[in-house]
Amino acid sequence: MEAMLTKIVFSEKCLGYGQLHIEGPERVRKTFEILKEKGYEFVEPKLASEEDILRAHDDEYVWALKKSMVEDPDTPAYENIYEFARLSAGGAIQAAEIHGFSIMRPPGHHAGRAGAALGAYTRGFCYLNNIAIAVKHLGKPTLILDIDGHHGNGTEEIFMEDEKVTYVSLHRHPNYPGTGTFSEGNCMNYPLPPDCGDEVYLKTLDKALGLLNMEMFDLVAVSAGFDQHAGDLASLGLTDECYSHIGKRIGAMKKPAFFVLEGGYNGENVGKNIDKLLKGMEHKGFKVHKD
Ligand SMILES: [Zn+2]
Repeated sequence: MEAMLTKIVFSEKCLGYGQLHIEGPERVRKTFEILKEKGYEFVEPKLASEEDILRAHDDEYVWALKKSMVEDPDTPAYENIYEFARLSAGGAIQAAEIHGFSIMRPPGHHAGRAGAALGAYTRGFCYLNNIAIAVKHLGKPTLILDIDGHHGNGTEEIFMEDEKVTYVSLHRHPNYPGTGTFSEGNCMNYPLPPDCGDEVYLKTLDKALGLLNMEMFDLVAVSAGFDQHAGDLASLGLTDECYSHIGKRIGAMKKPAFFVLEGGYNGENVGKNIDKLLKGMEHKGFKVHKD
């Protein structure tokens, strides 16, 4: 059996809320089961500290979240949601530290400094911006690659004009949240038509990565959503094979990488394609170095 280099960050605690929501526990439970079956090693996350959270979010917002006082039509104010969100943010930090893959929920990339970001009217199932909290925790020059089928408006808002960070997103347009239609400063956006397919997607990814000077970055943080898969919520018509190719491109950057789960609403597909992504990245010759 091949050695699995990348560890998965997971705690069953993240399955304890939102049973009836599309962003529900089943997607992650199934993902966990598939990765376990495939022989991955798991590590438990710790809660993110308030200090870590406040690097990415305003204190008024965090205060309201603690009291479960923030609600919108997509993003319910569940009881104790702050604790769930804190553990998911902690999962992202853990993934950043061990160059692993956090499959914790809730997701994060739509959450801006004070909630809904860049004029969006909801937080799109997100409470705390996990990847932003993890990137700020490390404080290193970082490329954030957002492959979720939606634009990460929260992440763009948090890192806009941050000299250490470049944000690159490929996403379906037109679609929720309606942002990410143009590039600006350190945020490079690639809106793609619905169901554009693997070939257009990979060509666009190559173009985006080709414009970067990788010497600028110490690591790559991937907002790993899987709802761009054919038939999912932000379908770009991607097949399972496409994730191996995306993984190869991440491996070819020859930088330490970590991954944080965003969307992807079919657990079967998410589990299978995390495995494809990681195996693509770890393919011979591209051993991720740890420094
Ligand atoms: Zn999404």
